[in-house]
Amino acid sequence: MDGVAARLASGVPARLVTGADDICAGLCPPAERHCERESVSARDERALAAAAAILGRPLAPGDELHLDRAYLSTMRAAFRTDSAAGRAPCFDCRWFDTCTDIAAGGFEEARL
Ligand code: SF4
Repeated sequence: MDGVAARLASGVPARLVTGADDICAGLCPPAERHCERESVSARDERALAAAAAILGRPLAPGDELHLDRAYLSTMRAAFRTDSAAGRAPCFDCRWFDTCTDIAAGGFEEARL
């Protein structure tokens, strides 16, 4: 994960995908991939729509994003202050409280 964060920080873009990404696909056999369940696909679709609304442009699988300072600042501000868009994907996520705590701490321990 540190290596992935370092590559993203160096300017390598992140590509939007459906289902398991390159990290998860390498760690989980297909039968164990919870990210390919219907509930997760629905959450991913909400996240895609919310991110597009925050950025003010359409997004689709295959698009690439540079997770630079401006992007992170925009998305983190929305996450903290715009519950309609910033937290739209999150309501049924098991990590809700963890992500809320990270945001409340100003993302201090985030790797990017
Ligand atoms: S709570 Fe965190 S992990 Fe869950 S959908 Fe929201 S941002 Fe993603």
